[in-house]
Amino acid sequence: MTPAQRVHFKEIIETQVPELSEEIETIKAAIYPNKGEGTSDKVAHISFKQEQNIHFQRHAEATKRLNRLKQVYLKVDTAEYGVCQECEEAIPLARLELMPESLYCVACLNERGG
Ligand SMILES: [Zn+2]
Repeated sequence: MTPAQRVHFKEIIETQVPELSEEIETIKAAIYPNKGEGTSDKVAHISFKQEQNIHFQRHAEATKRLNRLKQVYLKVDTAEYGVCQECEEAIPLARLELMPESLYCVACLNERGG
């Protein structure tokens, strides 16, 4: 990977971290609505609970991804970045463009079962 490419991926991560943080705040707000906004309607309450579960899941995934992005950001300047941790092959740049936090190539990720 060239120094210019490293700068490029740093920029991608720098853009994604605040975006993701904002998304997490939005999800949090949906999980914990302001007092008084709740409902005593039983059916509405059940669908609220179902929605809340979805939000919880999204929140967990977004938090995980944010942590990974922050970790990987510290590695962008090292030879480790962009190299699969399993087979030590270079991770395709197109994949890193989409998921700059990738630690594995697609083949190894599939083998690990996601
Ligand atoms: Zn691999």
